[in-house]
Amino acid sequence: MTCAQVDDQIEAVAAGEPASDAFRDHVERCVRCASALAGARRIETRLAARPAPPAPARFTAAVASRIRSERWKSEQQVDRVFNALLALGLLIVIGGVAALLNVASIASGASSALEFLARAGARTPAPPTPSLSTYLVGVAFFGTALAAWWWAERRLS
Ligand SMILES: [Zn+2]
Repeated sequence: MTCAQVDDQIEAVAAGEPASDAFRDHVERCVRCASALAGARRIETRLAARPAPPAPARFTAAVASRIRSERWKSEQQVDRVFNALLALGLLIVIGGVAALLNVASIASGASSALEFLARAGARTPAPPTPSLSTYLVGVAFFGTALAAWWWAERRLS
């Protein structure tokens, strides 16, 4: 065992923790480490002789109050983010419904125009169907809402 390794353990041994055989062997052979251990034991003895100062009045109550306050602030922040995401999701849903209604009116208008053209002599057109991108955007909105919900639940638990 080196002097540096003994230095790392001197405080603990002086405070009463059991010393290893290597520690004891080194201290018996090394004057410097023996002196350091004796000094640490003197300090421990003097510290033990002094009474421990009492904790300030209302210390526990103040710490508990501060912990509650910090937790409350954190929950408030999570609530604000969750509400903002909820409002954003609601706007997306309203926008999607409005776009869907608008697409339906555009599609019906186009359909009646095509029917008019078909009656005028052309062939019968196929009814309009939503495109693949419409379904992909819907799935993306739903996934975003699920991710926001999962994130908020994880933060609160
Ligand atoms: Zn030493």
